[in-house]
Amino acid sequence: MKRRLSLANVPTKITKAERLSQDLGVNIFIKRDDQTGTEISGNKIRKLEYALNEAIEKGCTRIITTGGLQSNHCRATAAAATMLGLKTTALLRVTDGTKVEGNYFLDKLFGAEVVFCTPEEYRNSRNEIMHNLAQERDKNGERCYVIPEGASFGIGSLGYFEAMQEIAAQEQEIGVRFDTVVVAVGSGGTYSGLYLANKHLNLGKRVIGFAVCDDSDYFAKRIDSINKEAIEHLGFDVESRVEEIEINDKYVGIGYALSRPEELEFIKYIATLEGLVLDPVYTGKAMYGLYNQIKKGEITGAKNILFIHTGGLFGLFPKQDMFNF
Ligand SMILES: *Cc1c(COP(=O)(O)O)cnc(C)c1O
Repeated sequence: MKRRLSLANVPTKITKAERLSQDLGVNIFIKRDDQTGTEISGNKIRKLEYALNEAIEKGCTRIITTGGLQSNHCRATAAAATMLGLKTTALLRVTDGTKVEGNYFLDKLFGAEVVFCTPEEYRNSRNEIMHNLAQERDKNGERCYVIPEGASFGIGSLGYFEAMQEIAAQEQEIGVRFDTVVVAVGSGGTYSGLYLANKHLNLGKRVIGFAVCDDSDYFAKRIDSINKEAIEHLGFDVESRVEEIEINDKYVGIGYALSRPEELEFIKYIATLEGLVLDPVYTGKAMYGLYNQIKKGEITGAKNILFIHTGGLFGLFPKQDMFNF
């Protein structure tokens, strides 16, 4: 197994959402991966601990990565790289304007170099653009390390392989077995690590991913391919089976990072009920999906469900005007 840096505050807490559990008639626990840090908060830092370690081992001086304007991943990368004395270039997809707020504000605050691209460029050639940015900078004496969208590649997946091991150890400590683990899926790396550790350690959990973009078929294939890459780094064999990858795509809503009024209402409901803040792009949609699936009787036989709160708080503030109070 690859080595990693130690940047995140782990193990992250697991707490029971008491009133939500009562509402749903099943125990809902929350793993607070939104509390992995302040600047580095969220799920991406677990993946970055492995990726950035490799960058440093290779003697790299600059990290190049990509995401949307409000990318949590780019912000966590800029923060973590800066902590390590490395520079960052963020290739950011712009859809409507470049208002300096939320995660993008923090990218600037950490002194990251920002390069913009259109949604078309992002879709068709983001890796090529990053590669070209790296080549130009390498010519000027830098040494660049490129991390793909969401750090969802084999090395990044190891971060959530380890998170699932952490969950298994916490089950022993608190004396609760989680039969079901639920997580938001945006680029697939988080689900990949959870899936592989669940299989490798024979935990027998149902791992449900709620897509926040694209569809189930796309993610099953994408996660299967991340799995295969991750297995190379793990150094032991785990069987990845596309048909076991469970992604629910019924709660994508009107599209990536776009919110429906009922989703924002739900974020308000959970905040009021539990004092827990979900984000509009990932965890709000995933928890809304879980809530509705349980209410509709679509998730049966579960006793203890663990919802992984993957963070995203900074992405809530640019949307605050959409809430009706
Ligand atoms: C990136 C992200 C996710 C999704 O994780 P993937 O590994 O990209 O599928 C979930 N929640 C938040 C807050 C994120 O930033």
